[in-house]
Amino acid sequence: MYDFLIVGAGLYGAVFARCVTDLGKKVLVIDRRDHIGGNCYTERIEGINVHKYGPHIFHTNDEEVWRFINRFAVFNRYTNSPVANYKGELYSLPFNMYTFNRMWGVVTPDEARARIEEQRFSAGITEPSDLEQQAISLVGTDIYEKLIKGYTRKQWGRPCNELPPSIIKRLPVRFTFDNNYFNALYQGIPVGGYTELFEKLLSGIEVRLGTDYKDVRANEDLSYSKVVYTGALDEFYGYSLGHLQYRTVRFETEVLDTPNFQGNAVINYTDEQTPYTRIIEHKFFEFGTQEKTVISKEYSTEWKEGDEPFYPVNDDRNNALYERYRSLADKEGIIFGGRLADYKYYDMDVTIRNALDKASYAAGEDLKWNRAEK
Ligand code: UDP
Repeated sequence: MYDFLIVGAGLYGAVFARCVTDLGKKVLVIDRRDHIGGNCYTERIEGINVHKYGPHIFHTNDEEVWRFINRFAVFNRYTNSPVANYKGELYSLPFNMYTFNRMWGVVTPDEARARIEEQRFSAGITEPSDLEQQAISLVGTDIYEKLIKGYTRKQWGRPCNELPPSIIKRLPVRFTFDNNYFNALYQGIPVGGYTELFEKLLSGIEVRLGTDYKDVRANEDLSYSKVVYTGALDEFYGYSLGHLQYRTVRFETEVLDTPNFQGNAVINYTDEQTPYTRIIEHKFFEFGTQEKTVISKEYSTEWKEGDEPFYPVNDDRNNALYERYRSLADKEGIIFGGRLADYKYYDMDVTIRNALDKASYAAGEDLKWNRAEK
């Protein structure tokens, strides 16, 4: 008899499992994949931790979340500073004084602001209502054309004027020479990779891999009082109200016989012609000095049944359909959580925060997860 059956050994499921286990509950975690860690999963190739489902760079302003996750790994000092390659021209990201200098030759923050203001004015944008307008009003037309338009089209498979402004609001714009992509107090990559972190997170907890929820439901020998479901909600309901849209990512991973292929962990190819969105050189997440290197080219495509869903496409149509699924789910007596069940483009720290809050609530405790530690 389990207190919780947790469907999904990704970040939400694993954190939830740890938290309720620490509060004395008995837990079974299942996952239909053959590994733990969900899309955070890393695999060691040539001594390099390869982020098999795309780069995961941990960053947070949430003190409790940071302390919680540090129980399971040491985080290194990796700071995300991607480079954009537009037809051979290299630009610093996120948009900052280095980017503005390279784009326009401007030297001071005032000159950069004036350029952006001029371009926003010529475009006649007052209240941005889509991603294109939002981008131009943040950084001007030149940066939009070279660094945003092509990349976004490739990543989302839709033109920028059909996408919500919220997607681009994630990206900081700075009038300083700060190349740190995230405005977070804490940032880093777990030394040894995410899979080790998940092994520690789930230590002492029963996990059954290659196990589908359907099979567990059909198994009358298993009993549990509460279900936590972290998969996609439309799938849970057999797509009965229609499909939610997702983007999926295909990776072409290669081992190269050189210690340094591109000199940075992340290089975005922002033109529309290059078929991939970015190339990841995994060793640089951990300052690797191996003789070889492993790179992954990322190709973004529309999700279809059987693919792994990555990004929810949060436009009006999908959000409205999601709400209809959600009202079914609210009557279910099941806990739904995480990126897929919530149909939201979450950062990892938000997922952890949600899981901790829900788990301590669900365990019938108002204990804070770390109280035992103090
Ligand atoms: N983006 C862009 N050019 C870039 C990087 C990002 O236009 O070089 C846009 C793109 O629309 C993307 C959004 O900014 O979807 C958010 O980027 P982020 O790096 O946060 O995406 P993630 O790494 O989470 O996929």
